[in-house]
Formats: sequence, structure tokens, C-alpha cells
Amino acid sequence: DEMDVDTIWMDGEFVDWEDAQTHVLTHGLHYGTGVFEGARCYDTENGPALFRWEEHVDRLFQSCKPYEMEIGHSHEELTEATKELIRRQDLSSCYIRPLVYYGYKSLGVSPQDCPTKTTIAVWPWGAYLGEDAIENGIDVKVSSWRKHASSQIPTNAKTTGLYVNSLLAGEEARRNGFAEAIVLNKEGNVAEGPGENIFLVRDGEIFTPGLSESILDGITRNAVIRIARDLGYTVHDTVSISRGELNTADELFFTGSAAEVTPIKRVDNVTIGEGTRGPITEEIQQTFFDVVERRTDEYEEWFDYVEA
Ligand code: PMP
Repeated sequence: DEMDVDTIWMDGEFVDWEDAQTHVLTHGLHYGTGVFEGARCYDTENGPALFRWEEHVDRLFQSCKPYEMEIGHSHEELTEATKELIRRQDLSSCYIRPLVYYGYKSLGVSPQDCPTKTTIAVWPWGAYLGEDAIENGIDVKVSSWRKHASSQIPTNAKTTGLYVNSLLAGEEARRNGFAEAIVLNKEGNVAEGPGENIFLVRDGEIFTPGLSESILDGITRNAVIRIARDLGYTVHDTVSISRGELNTADELFFTGSAAEVTPIKRVDNVTIGEGTRGPITEEIQQTFFDVVERRTDEYEEWFDYVEA
């Protein structure tokens, strides 16, 4: 297949790509009742290493809670399955996609007796928004679609159904010639990207919307806050950021497991800074890649090596 995957882990078993199937009456397919993760495994001197895997698995279990989904597998089992998938397919680096969803039993909205299904896939995936994006930044469009408010649906649970909003925002942006969207929350303040958190740099200080702004509690967001503070920057991570503040930012960038650290060079018609990757963004991005590719000994606690 085009993703170059030959083995998928499904409910405790390793199955061939073509056998990783589900029924059309799957509850999650009808109602968006799945939760998932997106993590990365990086190529390091000591072989492939899972980046902040603990936190991703913790978030997967947390995401299940509002839906009363029970993953019938332990944290350790999911970790071992993931490592085994990477070993079997001989990958040095990859993206990791665990998914937990309600399967089929009945099709009422209430999942009643629907079984909880758990799958993990891994595949090679380069820069989410492209190599050029990492280096030169991207143009983004403030979406006409607002984010779900966390009073409407828990936005801190990484739920499959939520990504219909991400699709609308992202595709609207791309139809209009932009690479990605920025989505405002119900209050009209900056929330995040369709699959990224956002950071703003102004007068040498760093700002990112607080967790009460209807965002996903991003693991890369958390890592970048830590890295930036360790580099000596002041990071304001409990703030609201108005739409207007985007225009007057010196620098803007996205973070995410897929997007890593991606500079933003234009928002709608407004050029950000010099219209290139800003210096603070570059420093943080460089440090981030040095960390994940283990060109430093720092933050060793963030890594779980595939070959024990
Ligand atoms: N916000 C949304 C809506 C996302 O889908 C993602 C990607 N998981 C992020 C933020 C970034 O989170 P993380 O750094 O944990 O990948």
C-alpha cells in the first residue's frame, strides 16, 4: 500500500495490512466515537526512540474517559506492541497512530454493548507540512469555522469526530491557497491549528493560548514550553490571544507531533515579521530537532528506545 505498512496491531494481534478491516456498522464510523494518538519515533544513535510515548499513552487513556471506553490492554502492552511493529517493519523512524473506537453491536447512539477496539499502525512520515515549511514557514488562513467550545465537547480528548472541524478549516485554507488554518475559539480568540498548537513571539517573549482556550493539551506544546524556558525565554502559557495580536506578532509558529515546529510567515494578507522563519523560532526549532534526534544528552527522560 502507499503508506508502506505491512503489519498492523489489532486487539492484541499482529495482522497483515489487508486483514486490518472493520465492519461498515462500526459505531465509531457512524458517530465519530473513537479516540486516537499521533506520536513519533525518531532515528537516533541508539536506534529508534519513541518521543514522549508515556505522555501519548496517558493521553489516550484520558481521552477514553468521557466516552466510558475501556481499553482492554495495559499501557505496557500498547508500548510493547508499538515497539514490535517498528522492529518487524525494520523502521528507523516513523509516525505512530494508536486508535481506540467503539465497534459494532448495535447502532443506537448509546454504545451499550459495543466492543471497544484498539489498533496501532506505524508508518514512515516526513515533515507533515513539507520540508520547505520547516525551513521557510507557511502561509495560514484564519478559518471562518470556529473550534468546538470545550463546553460543547471535550476538546482536550483527542476524539476522531472532532477532526471534521479540522478538515473544514484545513480544506477551506487550502482551497484559498494557504497551507493550513488557524482556528479561533467560540470567544473569537486564537485556539490552535487543525492539528497543531500555536505560539506567538513578541518583544522577545513567547505566548501560547492557555488550556482553557478549548485546545488540545499538546505534548509538543508542553515540550516546546520547557525547551524555551530552559533556553531562558519567558513563556506565557495561560493567556488568551486575540485575533488582532496575530498581525502584530514578531514571529508565529505551530507545534505538533506531526507538524513538529513549523514557522508561520503570513496570516491572511499580513506578513509576519520579515516573512521568513524568525530567529527565536529557529533557535527553538533547532533545539527541538537536536533533542528529538538525540544530539544532546538533555531531556533523556522523554525517550523510550525500541531496542531495549
Ligand atoms: N491540537 C490539535 C487539534 C491536534 O490534533 C494536535 C495533534 N495531536 C495538536 C494540537 C498538537 O498536539 P501534540 O503536540 O500532542 O501532537
